[in-house]
Amino acid sequence: MSLITPKVNGTYVTATRCEGSYIFDSDGNSWIDGASGSIACSIGHAHPTVVKAMSDACQHTSFVYRTQFSNPEIERLSARLCQKLGYAASFFVNSGSEAVETAIRSAQQYWRERGKATKTRILSRRLSYHGSTIGSLSLSGHWPRRRLAGPLYGEPTQPTPYPYRAANKEGMTAYGIACANELERELQQLDADNIAAFILEPIIGASGAAIVPPAEYIQRIRNICDRYNLLLIADEVLTGLGRTGRWLAMEHFGVKADLVCLGKGLNAGYFPISAVLFSSDVYDHIANGSGSFELGHTHSNHPIGAAVGNAVLDVLEQEQLVERAEWHGEGLKFTLQELCSKHTIVGEVRGEGMLIGIELVDPTNWNNPFPVELSAAIQATQIAFESGLVIYPSSGFAGVLGGDAIIIAPPFNIPEQATKQLIDKVDGTL
Ligand code: PMP
Repeated sequence: MSLITPKVNGTYVTATRCEGSYIFDSDGNSWIDGASGSIACSIGHAHPTVVKAMSDACQHTSFVYRTQFSNPEIERLSARLCQKLGYAASFFVNSGSEAVETAIRSAQQYWRERGKATKTRILSRRLSYHGSTIGSLSLSGHWPRRRLAGPLYGEPTQPTPYPYRAANKEGMTAYGIACANELERELQQLDADNIAAFILEPIIGASGAAIVPPAEYIQRIRNICDRYNLLLIADEVLTGLGRTGRWLAMEHFGVKADLVCLGKGLNAGYFPISAVLFSSDVYDHIANGSGSFELGHTHSNHPIGAAVGNAVLDVLEQEQLVERAEWHGEGLKFTLQELCSKHTIVGEVRGEGMLIGIELVDPTNWNNPFPVELSAAIQATQIAFESGLVIYPSSGFAGVLGGDAIIIAPPFNIPEQATKQLIDKVDGTL
């Protein structure tokens, strides 16, 4: 009898205990969780506030189905998220992929309600990861996985600004605008009457390691979406709720999306809950139109997930962890930049807040990524693992160029001592 597990890094260990920023096995080995699980455990493991909230929720609620019942925790969570992030409504599902599917379906329904039923396709970018369900995967540029899905809603055809490999490092504004203009070019070739939305990760996560675009790119994308009647979907499954030192990564660019997907940051790894936030425009057109949101999964609005979401918000607010993610992340990035200047295999250290990418390049020619066959990021992750540090590999994102980076994304509350250990282990790994 087998438990199916893709052993991406070649190493596989049974974790028997997790606490704060550490993971332990039964043989007494320990790891610093420098990747917050899969960039999810933003407030560390076994946080007493969340443990108590989950335990309390188990005492007095069991699962109730959303078509007949709501529950106090989900009502409170919805109100808090909408109020804090400036949205009119929310819908809760269980995974990041489901949040993306929900956003796609809501965008399609929005246009149907406005009498434009042909607007169903979604545009996305070649450098992207939106999930592992067929729909979300069909929009993902992550080649090794997307070949399994094929086109369903559309093809990821759009460029993602990638400042490290931009020809002219001085002209970031012009570069960002030129990348965004590709969307306009495509819309002029396609019929915008068939396109419902454009989806992007404001800061690239797993499929490129913390690539931050020029602000003008995101601002221009918003402008193009408005002019061509497209909704803008921000996939903040990885970046949302503090990871980049802001509640939403879109705040870095001063832009508001029409639909926002939240996932990892909302559940912090404790229980599968994810969400989509609706702008008042999208919400009102559906609510005042047919009035029936064609959405749902069996476990939507789960009371334990909702209790976790509320507890995660409590911890982020009470311990000021979004603020900490900003300043501690900035310090960590600065230290890693200094450290990496002596490592000839590092091309760039980048990111925002507690989402830091270290791009690995051929030391004999900094312009070249490592060949894909070397799997440099996977090798680095393996070496780090053996030294007691968990990091997150991102490979193959530069397409035919290869492209390897490792992601350092510890919990926002990683203590100073553990941060020092993490830095030493990154040094040793490189
Ligand atoms: N969107 C983004 C930006 C992600 O990083 C991920 C997960 N890595 C997903 C969607 C999918 O989330 P899940 O694995 O929870 O379905």
